[in-house]
Amino acid sequence: MTKIDLRSDTVTKPVPEMREAIAQAEVGDDVYMEDHTIQKLQKTAADILGKESSLFVPSGSMGNQIAINVHTHPGDEVILDSECHIFNYEMGAMSAVSGVLPQPIETSKKYLPVPQVKKKVKPEQYYYSNTALITVENTNNRRGGTVYPSDKKEELIDFAKERNIPVHLDGARIFNASIATEKPVDKLVQGFDSVMVSLSKGLGAPVGSIIAGSNILIEKARRVRKILGGGMRQVGILGAAGLYALENHIDRLKKDHENARILARSLEDLDRTEVNEPETNIVMLTLKENSSDENEVVEKLKEKNILVGTMGPRRLRLVTHMGISEENVQEAAEAIKNILS
Ligand SMILES: *Cc1c(COP(=O)(O)O)cnc(C)c1O
Repeated sequence: MTKIDLRSDTVTKPVPEMREAIAQAEVGDDVYMEDHTIQKLQKTAADILGKESSLFVPSGSMGNQIAINVHTHPGDEVILDSECHIFNYEMGAMSAVSGVLPQPIETSKKYLPVPQVKKKVKPEQYYYSNTALITVENTNNRRGGTVYPSDKKEELIDFAKERNIPVHLDGARIFNASIATEKPVDKLVQGFDSVMVSLSKGLGAPVGSIIAGSNILIEKARRVRKILGGGMRQVGILGAAGLYALENHIDRLKKDHENARILARSLEDLDRTEVNEPETNIVMLTLKENSSDENEVVEKLKEKNILVGTMGPRRLRLVTHMGISEENVQEAAEAIKNILS
């Protein structure tokens, strides 16, 4: 029986062509800045993102934390969405690594409402903490792969500029947002002082993320990466996979979005659940009160070789990616219907 793994788009494995690119990669010592493959990747990524410069980092979490460290000083505050990855899944790293405090915003919206942000910015009296950074997540994972609306982004950036507060974008899945909205990715990241994008999710590279921004920001980021132990040597091996991903795997995200819609549609008329209308590659299935326990559903699906994730009480997350075909989502939908009806 084939395994259908819908837990995350991080489970993708390198395709043979990507492995070939890895095998052929020219490498050098990247701490000495002599790895031409990484340099090519960083140049390509900066160009695609419309930023001056970019840096390859081992993970998205490290990329976010490097950016936070560069933008802040200990004792500062960071305004963010209470439903964002940085707040929920990075183990309090901003406090542990940079000595800064998160100021989460609670909202049911898929964006940070500027009036709420305004209230969280600390006044300038010396005895307050300094509001040093705002972070945005696009697409938003916990909200179900939602796209950050463009007009709301402009509004937030205008406000931040007026107050001189930098804004960081956690764009782990920004290419999904670009494909879903048919807007070029450089437009979606325009105005952000720093951006992190993942190569290891829907784009299918085995390891790595990129952070991008101004030349000065990336120079500082390189130092912080080294402090955190993220200075790597013949890392062109991974860079080649990242380059292959950027050159070949962006447009195919469309297929993942189609499969997510097919999956959501086939689960729509289940009485005991609610399903989101996926904007990108994430399907959120919420079990109604007094329905089944989410962990029980996960276990029953596992017996059928179908893997799904949970996202808090009564919530299941199903993510489509390049390892999932239309037949796979149909099979998964049938299995879920059998369990839940
Ligand atoms: C996965 C993810 C990250 C972290 O990336 P890792 O490479 O797993 O550390 C950050 N932000 C968002 C929104 C993510 O989905």
